[in-house]
Amino acid sequence: MAPYRFSVITIFPELFKPFCKTGVFGRGVSNRLLSVSTINPRDFTTDNYHSVDDEPFGGGSGMVFTPLPLYKAIQKSKKSTPGPVVFLTPAGTPLTHARVVSLSKLDGITLLCGRYEGIDQRIVDLFVDEEISIGDYVLSGGEPAAIVLMDAIARQCSGVVKEAASVENDSFFDGLLDHPHYTRPAEFNRKKVPQVLLSGDHKRIQKWRMKMKLVETLTKRPDLLLTARLSPEQKKMLTEIREELRKGSPADK
Ligand code: SAM
Repeated sequence: MAPYRFSVITIFPELFKPFCKTGVFGRGVSNRLLSVSTINPRDFTTDNYHSVDDEPFGGGSGMVFTPLPLYKAIQKSKKSTPGPVVFLTPAGTPLTHARVVSLSKLDGITLLCGRYEGIDQRIVDLFVDEEISIGDYVLSGGEPAAIVLMDAIARQCSGVVKEAASVENDSFFDGLLDHPHYTRPAEFNRKKVPQVLLSGDHKRIQKWRMKMKLVETLTKRPDLLLTARLSPEQKKMLTEIREELRKGSPADK
């Protein structure tokens, strides 16, 4: 199977080196399930300083990424990398699990990282297929956002996370948050692990986990319940949980 191809257009390619060698993503690269190349727009400049920014037309503070080096970098990327050109920007569509999953089904993606006040709008208008934001806050550059998107896509690529079940149990996979996790010791700072997890009764443990997913989602992200597709059993559980919470006994945490 061909690796999923990430092509990153960035003036800071060194930021990607440790990421591509570390943890789950690093294993995906060394197992040839993922491939990453970086393209530095400075390589397409002709002046001594390899400048990629200039003052904004109309005046004002800050600098703007000039279009020509970005244009050349995008052209180079398109020769080797299939898939859309995505610009990471606070003005983009907020990233969701659903979008990550659909992007992971492609063969590759070009990620364009802005800096300064942003990039010349004509690059966006002419060559960008999609604008994505990783949240309503402003970073100094698109690189951390690109790494977030790469990591999230990689987890959905078959074989990158060894146990498929661990991805399927993650938050958002079924529209709900994950349940709490515990490990040894069974008692820590006088707080005990829920008894059911020590029972060895797998049916009860499954039921507890399903209930806790609903409790977590209801109490922390009730908005997710508006779109989650719940089974009849989950619906029944949710009604019971609401009743328990109304009475002031928040389930068996
Ligand atoms: N002037 C821009 C604005 O207010 O929207 C912010 C520019 S920011 C300092 C520089 C670059 O960081 C952006 O061009 C973009 O590539 C990246 N960036 C910043 N915040 C981001 C976010 N929330 N999601 C994705 N990329 C972001």
